[in-house]
Amino acid sequence: MKLYDHNNTLSERHIKANRQADRQVPDRMWVECPHCQKTFLAKQLTSFTSCPNCDYGFRISAHRRLEWLVDDFQEFDTDLQTTDPLNFPGYPEKITRLQAKTKLNDSVWTGEATIGAEKFALGIMDPTFIMGSLGTITGEKITRLFEYATKHQEAVVLFTASGGARMQEGIHSLMQMAKISQAIAEHAAARLLYIVVLTDPTTGGVTASFAMDGDVTLAEPHSLVGFAGRRVIEQTIHQRVPDDLQSAENILKHGFIDQIVKRQDEKHTIEWLLKVGGEQRE
Ligand SMILES: [Zn+2]
Repeated sequence: MKLYDHNNTLSERHIKANRQADRQVPDRMWVECPHCQKTFLAKQLTSFTSCPNCDYGFRISAHRRLEWLVDDFQEFDTDLQTTDPLNFPGYPEKITRLQAKTKLNDSVWTGEATIGAEKFALGIMDPTFIMGSLGTITGEKITRLFEYATKHQEAVVLFTASGGARMQEGIHSLMQMAKISQAIAEHAAARLLYIVVLTDPTTGGVTASFAMDGDVTLAEPHSLVGFAGRRVIEQTIHQRVPDDLQSAENILKHGFIDQIVKRQDEKHTIEWLLKVGGEQRE
């Protein structure tokens, strides 16, 4: 049986692979890498939940990432709740369900963290919470994170993972892009460092705003990074686009990002950047 249609995007292949894996292997003992398509026993994945063959970083929760990324952390703004501004049918119930599952109040974890001697403001978007979509609380938490960092003269490290703006909050969701960008501008005006790490997938309004505002922009191997989906682009320009158009490797080639970093190297790389960034300010 053909598992993959190579005409699909990485994101679509990932979703398809997950569905097929769910059907074929009920206990998820086997996992298939959506990038290189090799199959592994789940326990063969690296301790960073990445592919041992191609280093693709599987989609993981914010709490899972915290386990290996930092030495210590303190979470911010755990009490913020969406007001469901559009009275979208079924939305409050969905939020309640996801809050219980993810232990997050919305699609981003924010707080203050340390790696070695470096203390910094940290945000991690969670792809398991409505595909990391940008809602009002996501926007408010990220804005507050930058404001805290500006006030306390700290760098910000933000891991992005998002399907884009959240349709259940409409225009209120889109407004977060400008609000966060303003907080980033104030942080930058204070000559403070902002490091972005793009993870799979980073798309839509997130790519169109704070994901591309970093002083240093890193990405995980084979992450999907783009604005519109591949199908939308092809239907608009009436042309087929290359398979790797929206891969981290392709955007690195075209100068959109600074470096691709494997998960096992992220902690050390971020620590080094924070140290160098701090020294530059002195
Ligand atoms: Zn792989």
